[in-house]
Amino acid sequence: MPLLVFDLQRFSLNDGPGIRTTVFLQGCPLACFWCHNPESQSLSPVLLHYDARCLRCGACARVCPAGCIAVDAASWSIDRSRCTLCGRCAEACPVESVVLSGRIREDDALLDRLLPDLPFYRESGGGVTFSGGEPLLQAAGLARFLPRLKERGIHAAIETAGAVPASELDLVLPHADLFLFDLKHVDPAAHRAATGADNRRILENLARVAASGTPVVVRVPVIPGFNDSEQVLGAIADRAAGLGIGRIDLLPYHRLGSSKYTALGREDVARDLVPPSAERLEALRRTMERPGLSVRIEGAPAPADDPRRDASPPASR
Ligand code: SF4
Ligand code: SF4
Ligand code: SF4
Repeated sequence: MPLLVFDLQRFSLNDGPGIRTTVFLQGCPLACFWCHNPESQSLSPVLLHYDARCLRCGACARVCPAGCIAVDAASWSIDRSRCTLCGRCAEACPVESVVLSGRIREDDALLDRLLPDLPFYRESGGGVTFSGGEPLLQAAGLARFLPRLKERGIHAAIETAGAVPASELDLVLPHADLFLFDLKHVDPAAHRAATGADNRRILENLARVAASGTPVVVRVPVIPGFNDSEQVLGAIADRAAGLGIGRIDLLPYHRLGSSKYTALGREDVARDLVPPSAERLEALRRTMERPGLSVRIEGAPAPADDPRRDASPPASR
């Protein structure tokens, strides 16, 4: 199967060393209540409508074969139960007010999008990062595609939440140069309550990646009321240090994904969370330090010997 991609971001400085292209793959087995990419969770394409951009021109309604869009001078609405996700409305919209998230990309076409930036990857020590959603849900497609990067000398990173069978991870592991591995909580019940799944597989897969020798950075989204305590983050630090992992990045909660919930016709249940202050984050960061473990906060300068020091820190998922 070709890869199902919902976004592609060139010149990313957030998802691994150097200048990168980040390829966002559709589908995620988790449902984190704070998710900044809710359009990525579905295993099939989804339709978003950003009302603030809408011109009420009606072009989308005119091409919809299912007749499920209604537009007048004051409003835009859709009957999602009748939408077949054909994408014609998105193609007709002049301002990307209506957008279809998730499109099949044939391998050759995807490679054609990536290769023009090869000089930037080489110059900066960058490459390509597969994120999501959960890229390992498309492990077979990645295992087929990643060697095409490797044969061109392009560094490949996988940003994963790790909630997949080990057999899927094993398909990708030999082809990845770096894992950016999300770890949100070490307690199974707390993890299940916040994400819809316990973390047994995640912890096992993190240990598997660490034991493989492939470089791994643990990334922790810091979510108010869920894991922003010395106790919870300390347990994560202990787990990482115990696996011989040398680096944790803290990714503070932010509200940038909120408009996507409205565009999907969903409620943003995390909209009232208050992002942690810089002082609080720094205090938490200090409590996580362990021998051999470097802990960074998104936005803080990297140490001089850090291979990613020319890159901005990663965006919170
Ligand atoms: S995706 Fe197709 S069926 Fe759905 S609203 Fe758009 S045009 Fe209509
Ligand atoms: S085509 Fe785009 S701008 Fe025009 S009504 Fe539809 S969503 Fe709005
Ligand atoms: S793992 Fe990431 S993409 Fe998946 S639901 Fe959680 S925050 Fe969203």
